[in-house]
Order: sequence, then structure tokens, then C-alpha cells
Amino acid sequence: MLKEQVCVFILAHFVLSIHSILFACGENEKNITSKKESQKVIETKIPRGKKFPLPEKEPICRVGIVLESDNKSRMEIVLPEGEFKITGDGKEKILKCDTQKPLSVKVSNGKVICEEPKVGTLLLSSSGVISIQRTDGKEVVAPQSGILLKRCRIGRGFHWQKEVDLYYPGKLEFHNWNSKLVVVNEIHLEPYLYCVVTSEMSSMCPPEFIKAQTTAARSWTIVNLKDKHKGVPYTICNDDCCQRYQGTTYLASDVVESAEKTRGMFLVTENGDVCSAFYSKCCGGIIEKGSNIFGKSALGLSDTTDAPPDSPTARFNPITEENVREWILGDWIKKSDSFCSPNVCPEAVLPKYLGAVDEARSYYRWKVVYTQEEIVELLKEKAHLDDIAEFLGFRPGFRGNSGRLHQLEIVYRTDRGEKKTFTVKRQYTIRKILHKKFLYSSAFVWDYEKDTKGKITKVILYGAGWGHGAGLCQMGALGMALKGYTYQQILKHYYNKTTLVKAY
Ligand SMILES: [Zn+2]
Ligand SMILES: [Zn+2]
Repeated sequence: MLKEQVCVFILAHFVLSIHSILFACGENEKNITSKKESQKVIETKIPRGKKFPLPEKEPICRVGIVLESDNKSRMEIVLPEGEFKITGDGKEKILKCDTQKPLSVKVSNGKVICEEPKVGTLLLSSSGVISIQRTDGKEVVAPQSGILLKRCRIGRGFHWQKEVDLYYPGKLEFHNWNSKLVVVNEIHLEPYLYCVVTSEMSSMCPPEFIKAQTTAARSWTIVNLKDKHKGVPYTICNDDCCQRYQGTTYLASDVVESAEKTRGMFLVTENGDVCSAFYSKCCGGIIEKGSNIFGKSALGLSDTTDAPPDSPTARFNPITEENVREWILGDWIKKSDSFCSPNVCPEAVLPKYLGAVDEARSYYRWKVVYTQEEIVELLKEKAHLDDIAEFLGFRPGFRGNSGRLHQLEIVYRTDRGEKKTFTVKRQYTIRKILHKKFLYSSAFVWDYEKDTKGKITKVILYGAGWGHGAGLCQMGALGMALKGYTYQQILKHYYNKTTLVKAY
């Protein structure tokens, strides 16, 4: 397709998309201008993005499944029924599988070797790459289809880290990477997204949630596909660092059906670039300003209350040191109408909707307790405060509009009796330091329990939300879908400075 044709094509779809948003917002047909007039407005208002332009056709993703940091040198895999080709160093081996066939792939002395039990070496690559795919090249995207990779690490570094068996469709590449095994999955964007949605949340989620999440993930991917991970054989990874992609393991066919309805649709910012549509698990009731987390490049994201427009919770936005305690602990929470609150997403239904690897509980409000000894240990280990003898307290720094701390001071006494202050910057680092694995969010307040001498014996953290809280709130989007909002309305709520455009 020629570039101009693509532009016209996009504009035409853009007009349609605008129409659908207006419809979704309850506007009537009279408000919709003729196609010709609309195009004029769009042409002057929305230039074609230079930094992250809309793709002209469906891109192919290269996703890291096993990373160098996983420290693996061998993988057990299982091929499903069908005909597969194993290639490396220009050689090719065809395997016809009448039934499931277990194989192993290992890295040894710079070589990659694919072996079959009892048979031995099937293929050896001295250059260090072996790929396995179906001979017909098809990406079969159905529940539990594709090649089974055993013991894949997920939730790397977070509180839900574990190893699970995962099915991956498309082509798999096994690389020798600094004497470690790195596995890359090559797959088209759309099937990749169907799997992302059912890895991030469960396939039981309502269709409008599935559509909103797919569209957000699609936009995020386009922005990050180029260089999120540099100098490695993949551009994005399969984990929370990028987006969860656990293959077809948790896929369901009705999810594919819903997600396909948004095929090729992207969120576009006012300057015509695809929006880096960040999202996180639970904002806690107010959507964090994107620039507080991701800097100036975060365009198109909302920073409003995650609740209906007339919600009384709007009085809290932005949260300050003065109202944060009331925000996190106040009685009003019992009646909160936030889309991500347990009143809209009841805790009892969460196991049904959360990702298969998540611990099902409400993250709208949470509590974590440390003894003096525990927090000292934690700060020694995670903040490398080797000289800490006693924790003396926290001092809050800058809080974002959702209550998230972006700076925190830790006051402590050293083993030589000196009083010192350690400043932690960025919500990510605060969360990393204040939990053995990872603290749910940096939106928290604290209480101390003290002994008769005034020494802190316990620190109690009361927090709100799970994740950075910018962009789409997955729990909130789920709440909106449960309340009957359409996916266009959900997307407009979380990315209010964007427009929905169909690119292919
Ligand atoms: Zn990543
Ligand atoms: Zn929320």
C-alpha cells in the first residue's frame, strides 16, 4: 500500500473511531459532522506522528521468554502433534510428531544442542542458535497450543516470582548468550496480544475489559518494540518488566474473539504518535500522573479520580501530606465508588478475574508490618545500609497526585551511634527497598509502635494500590466493564488525551 493510501485509510478509520467514541459517550448522531468536515478537523489537529508512527501492517514481535538473568543452560520442552523443523547452521531436521514429543535444548561450550531422550543429538549449532517451528509456519493460537517450555521463570524480582510450564505458539529460537540459554519467541503482534491479555488478567474477564486491555497493550507494544531491551536477541521480554506474555497457557477462545474485534486499533496522542499506553494492576483510586513515573515522554494519560465523574472522591485529587491519611485509612472507603475499590470489584470475585499467577486479594488498600529487627535487616539487604543499627523513622518527600511517594527519607542510627538520613528516589526504588520481594505501591502512610524508652519496635505501613498507578488501572477497567461501560469509554477514561485509530 502506498503511503498516501495508508493515510487516507487511517483517516477514514479514524473518523469511524471518533464516531464510535461519541456513540459510546451517549452523544447522538446530530453531533457527528459529515465525513468531509471531520477529515478537515483531523488533518489540522492530528499530524502523523514522527517518533512513534502508526504501523502500516501488523508487526512481528521478538519476545524474550528465557533471559540471560534466568541463569539457565538447559530447557526441557515438549512438541505437540504435528510436523516441526529444527534449524541451525544451515542444517534442517524434520520431526513428525504423532503424539507429544519431549526434547531438551542445552548450551554447552558455546554450542546449542537439541536432544531427544533415548535418541541423542538431533541438531548441533556451533554458531549458537537453533530455531524450532512448524513446517507450515502457522502460528496456532488456541488454548494450550504450541510448544511447551518447562519451568519458565515469571514475576522476576517481584513478590509473585515462580517457575511454571508455559505453551508458546510461533517460532522459538534458542540462543547461546554468554554461555547462558536465551529463548526468543517470534510471533505476530495480534496473537501475541491475545496471550498478553490472558497473562495479565484471567480469560474470565468481561469482553469490554478484554478489548480495552488488548488495545492498551497493542499501543504500548508499538512504542516499546524497538528498543526496550537493547543488545540482546529480543526487543521485549515476557514479564512485568514489559508485559506478561505466558503464551497460550491461559488463553480461551472467547478471549480471542473479543480481542480480534479491536484488531489494528491504537491509541494516538495529540501529536499523532502512538500512545505509550502504560497500565498497572490497581491505582488505588486516583490515576497517577504519567510524567511522575515515566517523565515527559508519557503523553495522553489521564490523571483523574478512578471513579465516575461526579464521585465525591475527586476532592482528594491531588493527594497531599494533609489528606493522605484520610485517603488511605478514612471511613469514606467503605462507601468508595472508585472503579478499582472492593465495592465495585468485590474481593470474592477477584480469583476469577486476576492473572493465573497472581495472589487473589484486593490491593485497593493493604497493610504490611515490620518489627524493628526486620526493617533493619531489610534496609541492610535491600538499601545496602551496612552501618545501620536502629531504624529511627521515615520522612515523606514528594508525593504524586495518587499519594505515591516519589521520594522518601529513611532516618537511622549507625553502629557508631551517629544519626544519618538516607534518601530514596523513585517509587520503583522505594518499593524495591521496603519489601523482601517488592512492595505493592509507594502510596502509603505509617504508624510506629514504641517501647517505654521511645524506641520503635514495630513499623506499620498502610498502603493503596498495586503498581505504578499510571495509565489504565486493570482493576478499575475491570470494575468499569462489570458496571457496563464499553471499551471505548474505558480507554477514554484512562487515556483521555488520545484518540482511537485503526491502522490495519
Ligand atoms: Zn522487559
Ligand atoms: Zn484504579
